[in-house]
Amino acid sequence: MEIDDVRDILPLFLSHSNVAVAIKGLDGRYLFANGEFARYADAPLDTVVGADDDSLLAPDRAQRARVAEHDIRVSCQGVTVSECVIRGRGTISFQVARFPIFGEQQQLIALGLIAVEVSAEDCNVLAAERALKEAQQANAQLRSAIFTLEELASTDRLTNAWNRRRFEETIEGETHRSARYGHPLSMLLIDVDHFKRINDEHGHREGDRVLVAISALVRAIMRKSDSLTRWGGEEFIVLMPNTGLGRAQATARRICETVAASEIDGIGRLTVSVGVAEYLPSETSDEWIERADRAMYLAKEGGRNRVEADARRALTQNHIEHLEGNFVQLVWKEMFCSGHPVIDGQHRELFTRANELLDAMLSGRPRDEILLSIERLLFDVGKHFRDEEWILNALAFDGLDGHRQEHSKLMARCHALVGEFEAGIVPIGELFEFLAHELVTRHILGADREYFPLMPSDAGPLPMPE
Ligand code: GH3
Ligand code: MG
Ligand code: MG
Repeated sequence: MEIDDVRDILPLFLSHSNVAVAIKGLDGRYLFANGEFARYADAPLDTVVGADDDSLLAPDRAQRARVAEHDIRVSCQGVTVSECVIRGRGTISFQVARFPIFGEQQQLIALGLIAVEVSAEDCNVLAAERALKEAQQANAQLRSAIFTLEELASTDRLTNAWNRRRFEETIEGETHRSARYGHPLSMLLIDVDHFKRINDEHGHREGDRVLVAISALVRAIMRKSDSLTRWGGEEFIVLMPNTGLGRAQATARRICETVAASEIDGIGRLTVSVGVAEYLPSETSDEWIERADRAMYLAKEGGRNRVEADARRALTQNHIEHLEGNFVQLVWKEMFCSGHPVIDGQHRELFTRANELLDAMLSGRPRDEILLSIERLLFDVGKHFRDEEWILNALAFDGLDGHRQEHSKLMARCHALVGEFEAGIVPIGELFEFLAHELVTRHILGADREYFPLMPSDAGPLPMPE
């Protein structure tokens, strides 16, 4: 059944029912309602969809609805109440059932309402029960219609993976939960390598078949709690709740290896490149996706059929476990080179210093020794910043002022953190995170890249500091 068919059928079902039915989105606005519901709400039908209770119902009824729905969100169970509405000269009694509607992953996706009018003389136990039974029957049908509708509206038809809309709805809740409760959360961004060639050589239909095959391979590796989204043409995202960077990287590697080792009927072998990023509580979901995307491009640049991870990770409550389980050595790559031998030598040296500090931490060296290691790193960073500014000045770099400010901000933050570490306020894990990832890696891979194009490519004379 296609989505448009369901859209056609649902109102039919709704209009033939003598039961008031409505579905409300999580933002409080009605998505569907039938004629009987309009009567229940005492509002013209065409004003219901898109409206919320405040604009639709009298204040006391809107308030009651709010309380009931709050209970539903908290308890995840339906609530049934009797409601009397005074209209004109008479009183109309309704039996109203409100209930949660869950999606595939048992997450709340909408709220449902069913109301049956019970006449004054009907107001005995039997009649109320009958009305409720009727409501429940309608409820079951309605739920299955909503499920189909929801599934069709939120999955990609080719691969059956979630579509972007569904992903965007989910990611907000997940990042919120992660920031609030400190649960790690990671994502993989997977892009098929040289996919255009497959279309060119075998045709678009075969290309489609490859996308279905790859999504099945990825699904077989992910956990039940992970979700697969078709992000773009031949790009997929795996969202991994309760997963830190290390475990996400391991899954990404398995995906890479499995795809590369699988034979796709009539096509042969192909590969994927994967970018991994763990969510940081301070960032927006767009920033997070962008980090995964950048990591994926690094994997492409690094030769495809590989995994790259953005090194930043969220700090968990348990710093020791975090230290042992998650920190990795910084690995120098040729692509980090600017072309200036002094700058590149110093950048390389900073990587080594950060790795020495990591070793000292992981092998449980005495605190004094760790502090000495930190001082050495800071000394080198200070000298490097001064030399770099000197060189950039000699090269008449436009962004020098901004870069200088960035340096002094980083240094100030550094000294403050070291002071807090010495005073026992900040754990070593957090300090290392900053030194290694913010100061060394991120600055070199981020801000410093702005001046890389200034370096003469023909190995002409370069300004050299003392
Ligand atoms: P790279 O390794 O750099 O990722 O190379 P690529 O060829 O995979 O990358 P590019 O982004 O240039 O090409 C992606 C292609 O995917 C282009 C587009 O025609 C194709 N594509 C996008 N959506 C679909 C689809 O639904 N079905 C099929 N068969 N092809 C699609
Ligand atoms: Mg692509
Ligand atoms: Mg591609």
